Amino acid sequence: MLQQTQVKTVIPYFNKFTKKFKTIKALSKSNEKEILKMWEGLGYYRRARNLLACSKILVENYNSRLPKSIAEIKKLPGVGDYTANALLGLIYNEPRIAVDGNVKRVFSRNMNIEEKKINFDKFIEKNKKKLFVTNHNDDFIEALMEFGALECKPKDPNCITCCLNKTCKYFKSDKKINNIRNKMIKNKNYDIFCYINKKKQIALTKNKQISFLKNFNLPEIKETNKSLKNKNWIFLKNYKNSISNLKLNINLYYKFSNKIPQKFNWYSLKDNKELIPSFTKKIFLQVSTLF
Ligand code: SF4
Repeated sequence: MLQQTQVKTVIPYFNKFTKKFKTIKALSKSNEKEILKMWEGLGYYRRARNLLACSKILVENYNSRLPKSIAEIKKLPGVGDYTANALLGLIYNEPRIAVDGNVKRVFSRNMNIEEKKINFDKFIEKNKKKLFVTNHNDDFIEALMEFGALECKPKDPNCITCCLNKTCKYFKSDKKINNIRNKMIKNKNYDIFCYINKKKQIALTKNKQISFLKNFNLPEIKETNKSLKNKNWIFLKNYKNSISNLKLNINLYYKFSNKIPQKFNWYSLKDNKELIPSFTKKIFLQVSTLF
């Protein structure tokens, strides 16, 4: 849940999720519809699908336990180097480091060498005797991440009070490296066309074309083509929406109709048992102003 998402956002979801699914086995008996509904609003829904798939594999093949070999763990859906190292360190106390953006920044600043010039795998292997000096590697992994998030922050690190400032090359150097990453922002323009009816319903279909919204229920959505006049549709509103590094400029159109194209289904603008992603909910909000 914490991948790409802040702790304060995750906490209510985590509490709800662990209250409902107390064991891996309980989770494995759930289904995609239920899991996605519980994940609604958290975004990056592939994580929820992978979690469910992982639970089923662990129950079926590993007696509900996490395998101990990194190769086996990395076969689980959605698990790469970072997660595999974190799991082995946190659960089995193995001497490993989960190298995320925070950890990279801490190491790179300590050496005052830019992140892109460091091979972190080689660095950890070469320095393992100095790094793994505790029997509580589970705590060490978490401490490193937290240290990067709270002390050695991306902007304005707490160098004056930092326990590492006596040896930290970044703190001592007159030529400090630059650790601020500039996000590559992409701008996109979309036209969205909503069929609505008097029962306060909207027609949606699973989107197959737009990669970041693939397989979600959406109205018809097309990249804006200025040469096309969207006649037969009534313009409702222009608004902005951001998804990850995408800035979307949206023109929303609607028409009242009882006839909808094939593969579209009616959904209530108020209440749905299926997952409605935040992107679609924002459309609901705009369209609801018509009633
Ligand atoms: S002294 Fe500053 S830059 Fe160095 S590790 Fe501490 S907080 Fe980070």
